[in-house]
Amino acid sequence: MGDLLLTDKEATGLVIKDAWTTRIQPRWAAVGMVCSPHKLVIGALERALHRACGLHHAATFREIGENRFVVKFSSEGDYRHVMKGGTWQFDFNVVLLKKFDGAIRPSDMVFDELELWARVLDLPMDMMNRAYGELIGDWIGKFISVETDEDGMAWGKDLRIRVAVKVDQPLMRGVFLRMSSDEADGTWFDIKYEKVPHFCFDCGRLVHAQGDCRAEKEEVQQWGEWLRASPRRNQRPPPPVRPSVSSSSYTSRSAGTEMFRGRRRCVMCPKKESV
Ligand SMILES: [Zn+2]
Repeated sequence: MGDLLLTDKEATGLVIKDAWTTRIQPRWAAVGMVCSPHKLVIGALERALHRACGLHHAATFREIGENRFVVKFSSEGDYRHVMKGGTWQFDFNVVLLKKFDGAIRPSDMVFDELELWARVLDLPMDMMNRAYGELIGDWIGKFISVETDEDGMAWGKDLRIRVAVKVDQPLMRGVFLRMSSDEADGTWFDIKYEKVPHFCFDCGRLVHAQGDCRAEKEEVQQWGEWLRASPRRNQRPPPPVRPSVSSSSYTSRSAGTEMFRGRRRCVMCPKKESV
């Protein structure tokens, strides 16, 4: 509004009555944001995500401002798959998705968290349970769920925790578990992430809040591919690649992250060759 002098009618405004109570709540809709310094091309995003997400039916994408978009799916299966099935990126930039909320105007929507599966490796069996999952999950980010049996026990090589992490904070590479705050030395447990989108190997962030990396460059790289876990347990070996498909004409899936066809450019780490 700024310094505008309002007319009487403008100052009085519009009183919302029945229109509010009859609002339509669309099924299978989501809002999202592409965390990129470049302007979103909605058609390119629609084509890339449709392919990368493996949608069975058409989905309609519409831009709603500042790299933000709304997407309407045609089936509940597609909707659930996209919202719970993984993490997504477009042109090496993380795509953040949330449930549709029609009450908030697009410019006020906050996109700062990403849900993903974290694995804590080589924990003692006494810690492979729901209680430790909640504790460690809330330390990594925000605990959502943990993979356990009906007794609350986890069985396997690692504790698999669904967490929401802040995209502008470094990924946790491990956790020191200390039995009490007085204990000087704890025990370090590695953490890996399934299907984590492209992140900066210098500062460990998925998104640079200031647009570029401000981390000091260390001699030894502090974050890297080793933080990626394979997306599924007991995964079968992939089928052989047909030699008739050229390397530039298919979408590759590597190290558990959906890679989208497009320029081989890394916005986060411009000096590094993207994989
Ligand atoms: Zn960085």
